[in-house]
Order: sequence, then structure tokens, then C-alpha cells
Amino acid sequence: DPSRPDVLTVAKLPPFYLQPLQAAFTVHDRLHETDPQAFAKIAPRIRAITGGGESVVSRELMQQLPALEMISIMGVGYDKVDVRAAIERGIPVTHTPEVLNDEVADLALALMLSVARRVPHADRHVRENRWAEQGNMPLATRMSGKRLGIVGLGRIGKAIARRAEGFGMSIAYTGRTQQPGVSYPYYPSAKALAANVDFLVVITPGGEGTRRMIDADVLRALGPKGFLVNVARGSVVDERALIEALQQGVIAGAGLDVFEDEPRVPEALRALDNVVLTPHMASATHETRQAMADLALANLQAHFAGQPLLSPVPECR
Ligand code: NDP
Repeated sequence: DPSRPDVLTVAKLPPFYLQPLQAAFTVHDRLHETDPQAFAKIAPRIRAITGGGESVVSRELMQQLPALEMISIMGVGYDKVDVRAAIERGIPVTHTPEVLNDEVADLALALMLSVARRVPHADRHVRENRWAEQGNMPLATRMSGKRLGIVGLGRIGKAIARRAEGFGMSIAYTGRTQQPGVSYPYYPSAKALAANVDFLVVITPGGEGTRRMIDADVLRALGPKGFLVNVARGSVVDERALIEALQQGVIAGAGLDVFEDEPRVPEALRALDNVVLTPHMASATHETRQAMADLALANLQAHFAGQPLLSPVPECR
């Protein structure tokens, strides 16, 4: 049915995305993984791919799809999509920027507060009846009024900065370039920034450009009173160096939403008392996931209606 183009999903989509998708398209739900033989038969008909921010869309997969016209990602990060391979074939890639800024920024602040004020530890202290049996917890660390460094002052980084202003924090940032019209102090490297802040929040894209940017050197610069928060991608932080730094008190603590080999989180990291760990859930609210699904679907519909895409990735604009 040409009015219902064939779409391959490359992630388990939530029902509020899958259902409207199935209403408008002929959906082959992860068929390449579940039934390679059936997939080989329908592959020549696939005109679009959709998946989430963690979905792998390789050159090899694209090569199996001669009729592929577009890739719509439900997520702002798309570091596992081979955009270069897509561009070579003139296949646009879309993502869902802006609609998740508030949610991810909220979780960044939640992790900063959680690790400094030890909120999860405090919860356990009450639950395990240690308050009654052993008394008060040790004192925590203040967050309000402290110095925040943002690695990647983009859409989400700016939303984090606005929230941190409400906490009376002073803000500085790093990135590849100093941004015009931004009055926060700029540092040319993560290391220089880390040396001058109490909280270092990482919110860059993943991929080759940022791989292991937060290394042992940066952590040493952050220092024994410094906290690291990563809501970007696990690949941006050298996880082995981070574990060592946390074990040896090179930094005070870390709040992490993302990891190098998700969903596997090293035992050594899970055993530490000075970390707060969340399962890559910064955008995971009903409201925001719905908005992301709506935008991912709207991009597919715009493409097949011959209309301009709503949110192509920068490389495809
Ligand atoms: P933007 O593109 O708006 O911002 C990215 C920022 O990172 C820019 O300020 C950019 O500045 C900086 N940056 C890019 N490359 C580098 C580099 N090589 N070195 C240093 N800085 C760099 O993206 P968003 O704010 O919308 O999203 C950022 C990322 O957050 C996403 O790509 C995604 O990976 C992650 N994310 C994680 C989520 C989660 O669930 N934990 C949810 C949503 C997003 P400049 O160009 O000057 O270098």
C-alpha cells in the first residue's frame, strides 16, 4: 500500500509512539533482529527507519535498504547513527531537540542535589531504621551559591544554567568555541574549567568528538571537593579513570545518568558510596516522551507529505 510507507523500527518504541506510527505506516517492528529471513524479504520496501537516541543505525543496515529515504530518531542524541553514510546517500536524519531541555536539565539539578546532599543515602538511612538505631547522618555538602561548570552550553546546558542561577550558583562553561552573547566566563578546556568549579556538569553530544574528554587529568583538576555530573553520554567520561578517582578521593562524588556500556554498570561503580546512579532516564517522563514521540512522528509525516522536515540534525540542514 503506497499510502502507508514501510517503516523499520530499530528500538522498542513506547505504545504512544508505536500505535500512531502503525496507524499511518506499515511498521516492521525490529524485524532485522527478530526474523532476519522475513527482514531480507521486506528490506527492499523499507522507506524509513525510526528508533530512539540509543539506537544503532549502521552503514551495513542502510546498505540492506535500497529504498531508504529517511531516518527519524526519537531523542536529541544520535551518536550511534552513521550520519556520514546517510548523507552520502542523501538520506536525511531527524531528531527531537528542544522538547526535552527542561526534563534533562531538571535531572541534572536533581543529581547535583542528590550527590551533594546525599538524598538517596538519607532515604536509605530512614528506611533501614538507622535514624532510630544510630542517630543522625554525617553532614552533607552545600550546593547553593557554589561554582558550576557546564561542559557543553547548548540547548540543555543553558536550561541547566538558568536553574542553577536560581540556586545562586556562579556559572562558567567550556565548549569548542566561546559563544557570542553569553556572559558566563568561558574556559578553553574541560580541565581549565574543572580547576575553577565545585560542580562539573557534562552535557555535550557523544561520539568521536567528545570521547573520554573527561579523563584522569580533568578529574584531578576538579579536585577532592568537586562533584561530577554526567547527563550526556557514557562515552564522554573515561569510566575507569572516574572509578579510580572516586575510590581514591580524587573527587568528592559523582551523579551519573549515563555509562560506557549501558545497561551494564561496573560492579566497582555500583559498590561506591559517593555516587548517585540513574538508568539513562533524564528525558523519561510521560510528558516529555510524548512530546518526543509526537515530533519523531511529525518528521516522518512531513517527509512523506513532501513537506520540509521539522527538526533535521545539523549535518543534514
Ligand atoms: P546542543 O547541540 O544544543 O549542545 C551541545 C553542546 O556541546 C554545545 O554547546 C556544543 O558547543 C558542545 N560541544 C559539542 N561538541 C563538543 C566538543 N567536541 N567539545 C566540547 N564541547 C562540544 O545539544 P543539546 O543540549 O540538545 O543536547 C546535548 C546532548 O545531551 C545530546 O547530544 C545527548 O547526547 C545528551 N542527552 C542526554 C540525555 C539523557 O537521557 N541523559 C537526554 C537528552 C540529551 P560547541 O559547538 O561550541 O562546541
